[in-house]
Amino acid sequence: MKATVIYGPRDVRFEEREDPKIIKPTDAIIRTSATCVCGSDLWTYRGIQRIAEPTPFGHEYCGIVEEVGSEVKSIKPGEFVIGSFFSSDNTCPHCHAGYQSSCVQKELVIGAQAPFLRVPLADGTLVATPDIPPDDLIPSLLTLSDVMGTGWFAAQAANVRPGSTAVVVGDGAVGLLGVLSANQMGAGRIIAMSRHESRQKLAREFGATDIVSERGDEGVARIKELTKGVGADSLLECVGTQESMMQAIGSTRPGGAVGFVGVPHGVQIKGEELFRTHVRLQGGPAPVRRYLPELIDLVWKRKINPGKVFDLTIPLNKVSEGYRAMDERRAIKALLIP
Ligand SMILES: [Zn+2]
Repeated sequence: MKATVIYGPRDVRFEEREDPKIIKPTDAIIRTSATCVCGSDLWTYRGIQRIAEPTPFGHEYCGIVEEVGSEVKSIKPGEFVIGSFFSSDNTCPHCHAGYQSSCVQKELVIGAQAPFLRVPLADGTLVATPDIPPDDLIPSLLTLSDVMGTGWFAAQAANVRPGSTAVVVGDGAVGLLGVLSANQMGAGRIIAMSRHESRQKLAREFGATDIVSERGDEGVARIKELTKGVGADSLLECVGTQESMMQAIGSTRPGGAVGFVGVPHGVQIKGEELFRTHVRLQGGPAPVRRYLPELIDLVWKRKINPGKVFDLTIPLNKVSEGYRAMDERRAIKALLIP
């Protein structure tokens, strides 16, 4: 097969690779129906996250099960499945607590920007849809593999409740789906921080009630102004920089919560400063697997349409164009069709 391999900064190739095979009896091989480029892939694409050697890339996937190992019980060939970017056994104490992305057996599922993919721990990682989905549902189902589940986790970690005021820092796919998640969870007011018109428009479609385009201290001041000096109950931090993190913490009311899901790069928080804020923090790689059954149901019943974050669709063999478009912020998220 031909698949995506990243060689270094701004060097993404689509080249011949060996077809994935069952290595362990708990593996499955899936034929990807769709895959995509993640905002977090850009850390590597831009050379901020270094790689030691050319690496098969991509971690978001959904598709049809081709083959399963001899110990796989619940997943069957022919089913349409979605899985997280971390495999999980779904039986260990961390999985039972709902933190499958900290599973004691977790492995990063990488190499998804390809027509075929090996998924370890298939029974614990993959969730099948009720039937083979119609084509128009596939983009939304694909988002459940990462960005939608990550936005959902951000909203949960930020303790979004019916009627609460939520602020979303970051207008990438995760931030926009954080808006959608906060809306589903009943937030009374959702303030999206964005300075891009097309993204602001989608944020409003997903339920944002206010848009703030200021950043940093000015952004914090604007949130304070909009909340009568109090600050917001829930902050969803979906970027991962020092500025975005401080913007999130600074905009939160005493007793409020920050859910941070942007992969932090160079973020440092002073203990003493944090101590005085009375803010709760929870972050980490989202336990996407926990949310799959619930989110599949919402997409299946067409109650949410997270696939709207894909504003560029290209054939998988043009994958490098997807990276370029996202790097230059010409696209929110690139959908890749094998
Ligand atoms: Zn586990």
